[in-house]
Amino acid sequence: MTLVILEKAHIESVLVGNDTVQKMYINGEWVESESKYTREIINPANGEVIGVVTEGSVEDAKKAIAAAKQAFYKNGWMNSKARDRAELLLKISNKLEERKEEFAYLDTLNNGKTVRESIADVEDAVNQLRYYAGMATKPHGQTYDVPDDIQAMVVREAIGVVGIIVPWNYPLVMANQKIAAALAAGCTVLVKPAQQTPLSVIRLFEIIDEVGFPPGVVNLVLGSGSKVGAEIVANPDVDKVSFTGGTDTGIKLMKSAADTVKKISLELGGKSPNIVFADADFESAVDYALFAIFANQGQVCSAGSRLVLEENLYETFVPELVKRAKLIKVGPGWEKGVEMGPLVSEDHMNNVLNYIEIGKKEGATLLCGGNRIVEGDLEKGYYVEPTIFGDTTPNMRIVQEEIFGPVLVIQTFKTEEEAIELANGTAFGLAGAVFTQDGAKAQRVIRQLRAGITWINTYHPTFNEAPWGGYKQSGIGRDLGTYGFEEYLEIKQININLKVEPSGFFEGK
Ligand code: NAD
Repeated sequence: MTLVILEKAHIESVLVGNDTVQKMYINGEWVESESKYTREIINPANGEVIGVVTEGSVEDAKKAIAAAKQAFYKNGWMNSKARDRAELLLKISNKLEERKEEFAYLDTLNNGKTVRESIADVEDAVNQLRYYAGMATKPHGQTYDVPDDIQAMVVREAIGVVGIIVPWNYPLVMANQKIAAALAAGCTVLVKPAQQTPLSVIRLFEIIDEVGFPPGVVNLVLGSGSKVGAEIVANPDVDKVSFTGGTDTGIKLMKSAADTVKKISLELGGKSPNIVFADADFESAVDYALFAIFANQGQVCSAGSRLVLEENLYETFVPELVKRAKLIKVGPGWEKGVEMGPLVSEDHMNNVLNYIEIGKKEGATLLCGGNRIVEGDLEKGYYVEPTIFGDTTPNMRIVQEEIFGPVLVIQTFKTEEEAIELANGTAFGLAGAVFTQDGAKAQRVIRQLRAGITWINTYHPTFNEAPWGGYKQSGIGRDLGTYGFEEYLEIKQININLKVEPSGFFEGK
């Protein structure tokens, strides 16, 4: 593991200062909201204001949608050439790579994640742009052997204007992966980052501006979900919404999208099981159980937030897990040796602490953590101890609901059937893992998991080449890979008459 050593002043040198109002990017111009309201952006490691951004309104969202519509239909982006789009995406990727540290520091300052995690995020984003640059030229059509002297074929076409709405836990990557896929497919886009974490996406638009897209092809709108986000979903000129966020929000979006029969893909929440059998490799199972829940402060949709543990392993596994959880070094994401940063905001920290209280009241046993960390300077930030609950029952709220923080609940089982039942026993179906050295058992169990992203003897590795998304209430559709690309394409059937003569259906002349 590379330990990062950075001075606070060094990392903060990427900020533009609080005297500058950071703008939206609409129709190829940097603009302030017509509302003239602004929003302060907070560093969750210390509560300091690290930027001021313009607060977009419904009117601004409408302007961005109109610009994207004009660019797609009237100004001809719908007929843009795949090779040209690929070239533009490659240019973005190269510029982003050159400025890797700058973007990583922005995400660390704005989201709280450690620099080693934010560096990995930017590398991922660079790869996403290159992957989809390659994909731009790959949507091939089909021809069919049909009767009646007809040549039937299918062509793939860009879906049109795409509204992209993303959360705060991977500020750059979430927006970037959708922008890359939608642009590769030939769509025009408007992006709304989470209101808490817009800084790296604003900076990405500096690059987008430099590489030279026609006005209106790529737009950035800032602001709240309830106003700007809701307008993007409701507006009839948006052809497709690609959303990542909470399940409750996803439900609202789906209802609103129904009014315009809008195509919508939803990447939602999770409560993913990490099943550990007694025959697993002990060291790696403990290690991955920690990584599964405490990476990114537990603010990962696919986090292994339920450890589903074979009962006869409990007495050796759990003390080791608790011992190691207590050793996790928590602090500002840029400090030497820090392994876990703060939660994204004071509000979110309070939600997580509230869940911990609920767990205690429900009668689960708090095995470690459970508190806000207030030692020294950490008092200024939103830090929560790595927390583990034992003695849970399946119907407890801390077992059923997504906490989205560093809180692990342990469930125990005696048989394989019981493990599967517990694992599938929530409304979610995003991810899950199984640890065992019995290859056949691993396959049996993983095939029974009702989840879209699964692992055997590991947790979390994900790749831009492979589809990302959930079963059940974890979502609809997929991001990433070829499946993610398909989300931005329509399918058109074309039938060509090879024998040009009257049909003769009506005889009278
Ligand atoms: P959230 O649902 O509160 O917000 C996500 C985005 O939706 C934000 O940009 C927000 O402004 C916007 N929004 C909120 N209300 C809206 C509305 N009525 N109409 C339109 N847009 C609206 O989620 P969050 O708290 O930012 O993020 C955490 C959630 O995201 C967790 O549930 C997590 O599991 C989920 N998530 C899922 C994935 C995945 O791939 N499945 C990935 C990351 C995060």
